[in-house]
Amino acid sequence: MEVSRHWRLQAQRYQLVGETCDSCGVKLFPPRDVCLVCEEPAQELYTFTGLGEIYSYTTIYDAPAGFEHNAPYMVALIKLEEGPMITAQLTDMAPGEAEIGMPVEMVTRKLRSDGDEGMIVYGYKFRPAVLETVVA
Ligand SMILES: [Zn+2]
Repeated sequence: MEVSRHWRLQAQRYQLVGETCDSCGVKLFPPRDVCLVCEEPAQELYTFTGLGEIYSYTTIYDAPAGFEHNAPYMVALIKLEEGPMITAQLTDMAPGEAEIGMPVEMVTRKLRSDGDEGMIVYGYKFRPAVLETVVA
């Protein structure tokens, strides 16, 4: 396993870092360096709040190699507060508890460990939002 690659990606694994477009203000995730809306270069880093809501979800029964111990688990399309959609695993909720429109927040969780070298890979998951959104 390439340790350096994991170090390089660590910022993205611990926080939801994307980009913001200087020209039109759109927030991008994942980072793609070009604005999807106005096609101007967008390289300004932006850290998302990690808040969003469930747009759609599905339950996975046949987990890929390395994830078997997690099955069944739920994967959702999350619509972030700032606009972008992101696919992520749901956590801290039972199958059947997820609802479309449910407020969720990002948490950092262990995704898997690579047997021999003992490398633990962390990533983001989403759980039901604990904090009430303050409505002005
Ligand atoms: Zn733009």
